[in-house]
Amino acid sequence: MAGIKLLFCADLDPAEAATWRHHLAAALPEADWLDADAARAAPAAACAAVVANPRPGALAGLPGLGFVQSLWAGVDRLLADPTLPPDVPVARMVDPAMSAAMAETTLWAALSLHRGFFAYQRRQRERRWHVHAQRRADEIGVVVLGGGAMGQAAASRLVAQGYRVGVWSRSGARPPPAGAEGLAGDDGLARLLPRADVLVNLLPLTPATRGLLGARRLAALPPGAGLVNLGRGAHLVEADLLDALDRGTLGHAVLDVFETEPLPAGHPFWTHPRITVLPHAAALTDPRSAASVAAANLRAWHAGRPIEHLVDRARGY
Ligand code: NAP
Repeated sequence: MAGIKLLFCADLDPAEAATWRHHLAAALPEADWLDADAARAAPAAACAAVVANPRPGALAGLPGLGFVQSLWAGVDRLLADPTLPPDVPVARMVDPAMSAAMAETTLWAALSLHRGFFAYQRRQRERRWHVHAQRRADEIGVVVLGGGAMGQAAASRLVAQGYRVGVWSRSGARPPPAGAEGLAGDDGLARLLPRADVLVNLLPLTPATRGLLGARRLAALPPGAGLVNLGRGAHLVEADLLDALDRGTLGHAVLDVFETEPLPAGHPFWTHPRITVLPHAAALTDPRSAASVAAANLRAWHAGRPIEHLVDRARGY
């Protein structure tokens, strides 16, 4: 990759940024890394950017910019930057290690909801000894919203666990994993929700999916269902979730993502007995594997070969 300039644009804490720099440099020893100021000073030079939460405007004013590789799977924040050059191809991160981590988190949450382990946790705090009924996995419907890299990995693990698994996508173009049922569109969602003893959200945040999990859809779930939001906070209407939990129509929610992150200290989710909070940690990007994924894509771009996992800028994912 000699002669090609690469920018690293990340709004990360210094230690995390240093780890990324180390792994990216090891995966791309031939690359010539520069910062955005240097790239702006030499506007004619072709360059690509590797980004993680870049500050809005970080990629503006770079006429030589030819490709943006995200280190994150979700690109909603990146695409929301109005200064992102409109015609530059953007690829998102698809790393089997991250998909495996997401499958683990999904299985833990589904299993904990199905077996009522969060209820046992509540009772422990109350020093209450009470055994509830035990249902078999094949009696439990788990619906995964999103049938992409994350949704497929999660659904496969849920099928292997013995659940009745449904997968919802926009187009239905990608078949669901063996043993799961795939449905698409509004009709598909309307058919799947009443079967979702556990509803797992793994959608990207786009104009079409923002606010999808509101009162109407939560009310379509079976009584006492569990919700697992691992997509983005803005998929969920927070007030509607609290209302459904407090009225008892929804049993418990496992939330990894929030409208405002970090979740503010005074937010009611922190102390709600029927909410389990995770700090956006369902599936971290692992620099040890993701740096190689990024490197392969950057080499493909440089060589004029097809780039993997290109974002459709119009659709937003
Ligand atoms: P992906 O491969 O692009 O898959 C997206 C899936 O969502 C596709 O199946 C797509 O349908 C479906 N979809 C998109 N818009 C839809 C709509 N309007 N209605 C129904 N289905 C729709 O994305 P991914 O890699 O699986 O990642 C998904 C999201 O997970 C990311 O965007 C990010 O927000 C989240 N995530 C969270 C964490 C975490 O730690 N919490 C980590 C990684 C990712 P088609 O198949 O028809 O295109």
